[in-house]
Amino acid sequence: MAEKFDVAILGAGLVGTALAYHLVQEPARRVLALETAREPGCPNATEASAGILSVQGWGPWDLAIVRESADEYRRLIDEEGIEPLRPNGGLRVARTEEGARWLERVQRVLEREGTEAKRVGPGEMRELLPFADLDDARAGLYTPDDATLSSTAIQEGYLRAAGRAGAELRQEAEAVDVQPIPGGGWRIGPEPGLEANALVVAAGAWSKGVLARLGHSLPLAPFRAQAVRLRPRPLLAQFPTLHDLDLNLYARPASLGRILAGDGTGSREEDPSRWAPNADRTFVEELKTAASGLCSDLSSLQVEAAWAGLCVASPDRFPLVGRVPGGERLYVATGFNGFGTMRAAGLARRLADAIRSGQWEPLAPADPQRFPSSVEPFDPRPEFPLEGEDEGTGPPPDGTGPTHPTTFPRAGSSEGIQYRRLSGIAEVAALRWAPLSEWFDPFLPLFAKDALRTGGTVEVAEQEGLVRGLSLVGSSEGVGSGFTRTRRVAERYLERMEPSGLYLEEPWRPGGEPVEVFAADLRDWTSEERLRNPVRIARPEDLPRIRLLMRGELGPGLDRWIATLPRPEETAFLSEAAGQVAGVSWLSRVGPFARGHSFLVHPRFRGLGIGTDLLTARMLWLRRTGARQVVSEIYDGNVASRTAAERAGMALVGRMYHFRPPACG
Ligand SMILES: Cc1cc2nc3c(=O)[nH]c(=O)nc-3n(C[C@H](O)[C@H](O)[C@H](O)COP(=O)(O)OP(=O)(O)OC[C@H]3O[C@@H](n4cnc5c(N)ncnc54)[C@H](O)[C@@H]3O)c2cc1C
Repeated sequence: MAEKFDVAILGAGLVGTALAYHLVQEPARRVLALETAREPGCPNATEASAGILSVQGWGPWDLAIVRESADEYRRLIDEEGIEPLRPNGGLRVARTEEGARWLERVQRVLEREGTEAKRVGPGEMRELLPFADLDDARAGLYTPDDATLSSTAIQEGYLRAAGRAGAELRQEAEAVDVQPIPGGGWRIGPEPGLEANALVVAAGAWSKGVLARLGHSLPLAPFRAQAVRLRPRPLLAQFPTLHDLDLNLYARPASLGRILAGDGTGSREEDPSRWAPNADRTFVEELKTAASGLCSDLSSLQVEAAWAGLCVASPDRFPLVGRVPGGERLYVATGFNGFGTMRAAGLARRLADAIRSGQWEPLAPADPQRFPSSVEPFDPRPEFPLEGEDEGTGPPPDGTGPTHPTTFPRAGSSEGIQYRRLSGIAEVAALRWAPLSEWFDPFLPLFAKDALRTGGTVEVAEQEGLVRGLSLVGSSEGVGSGFTRTRRVAERYLERMEPSGLYLEEPWRPGGEPVEVFAADLRDWTSEERLRNPVRIARPEDLPRIRLLMRGELGPGLDRWIATLPRPEETAFLSEAAGQVAGVSWLSRVGPFARGHSFLVHPRFRGLGIGTDLLTARMLWLRRTGARQVVSEIYDGNVASRTAAERAGMALVGRMYHFRPPACG
């Protein structure tokens, strides 16, 4: 007996998994997503994506799709606790008269559709991108709604949510044979095997070949797109995604203070059965040169990674999502022309709705039937020619009618989180962690152990065996800390916070006071400060004097923590003057990762550069001992700490938030 499904999806990239998620919701359907293993080192487009979500002036239908996608991603992220979407805005710049006119047209289209788009002059461009040299830019257009995201994190979220709702994902070593069943439906693989009532081809660059084998020829052309991850010195905080029209490059902030950059893309069709997944050397060199020229205020830019992926072009650069011409219960979702990450959710939901209801108008501009039955071979055109073609020559007619409903099915998604209080340090080693924090993930087990050692309460939120939240309360830190990317877990922490408040990494609700996060990569660090004061690593016998200084400045709260020392992961740097400990700075070390904390200088010895020396010595030691990254939080806008951190070569890379309970009365 064949195993029967309502819908089978070929391809479980971002689009296939988004579709599985939507198809499996009410009314419940049996959905199968089939994925084919690729050669190691050959990413699919979802894995290669730069993760830029930008509002583009293609027209109302397209803007609605991008908005729907962004809304859905936000909800999915909050529900599934995955890497957040970062609203960072976008800045397009042009240096030529023609480019400036083009930006004007884009602005008109965006504004007509109610999307904020603001012309910016040289001063504002400098403010938005202080490290970039845009002095010769003639025009700039700023779109605050642009954002960045992790395409694979979203895909993971869809997979989990679709799986919980009953969708099935199978991975095969090779592409399975698919055949129409006489009388209707599809046979997948050898008999008796699997059968599906309907088939969706969402196989990215491989879709053209899959459809050709089924006897359907669609005007699609796979092409290569490349990207690099650059490590700047100093590391960078969030900045708007830059599209430089003349240099033909984009640059967006990436996690851990990096830059992700790419340029135009391949302009010839590729064969997805033999393509080069490594970035071309010329691409990497040219991009690095262009980025270094553009980011002239940075001390250095190192290429950390470079890669290529396959996108799919269509002749008019609109996607092909809908019924395959001449096919029976055969659908396709591809042809995103390099912009599928920002459109996947909206298009997948519309396709799922249309398959269910037979109403295809919301997908009219993406209708695969819009092309004549035979289309001449064409070359991919990777730039942005659709943008700004407002009067007269716009995109295909808008078929959406009223705004598409934005309900988000939640089947099963609010269940399954269990909260557990840890009773001993031994339990920490057994925990399996989901990524919870951009900068502090390596330290979370250490934080948990420290809290337990010092009498605090440690609670983990677990789902499917993974820690999705960590709460530390009542430890020597005073203020509680919560680490989570799941909204309902964060809400629980906020509801239960103590009078001293709670540190959280995301601004889950308004009113959090920012805590600055500073960091540096030791591999690029060079000492610019000469030590003016003696600094040495503390010995166990120094601990009583260090405790005295810390107690005097910070109160007795840290006594319990100091009593747990010495421990190999904790190192203190101290400076002495006039026979006493004048300043101290602590460092927790987990392999190549270090976190600076508890940094203070006795008031009597301030202004002598002791703070900068303590931090510089810390950096010297870290580099000498093979550390890679150091991070520190700076609380309460402490200007002296900030200055010392900057002098010692660290840079502001992000913010956390201190939430306090509402005042009474
Ligand atoms: C370098 C690069 C940067 C990009 N940057 C951005 C960006 O910033 N913003 C943006 O919006 N878009 C961007 N994109 C485009 C975006 O990544 C894609 O449009 C999107 O990921 C397409 O998803 P997909 O699911 O259609 O394809 P894919 O992710 O390629 O998934 C298709 C899947 O089908 C599987 N498959 C193949 N054949 C079969 C078969 N016979 N049976 C079953 N499964 C099969 C493959 O293994 C693959 O996993 C970028 C793309 C690249 C390459």
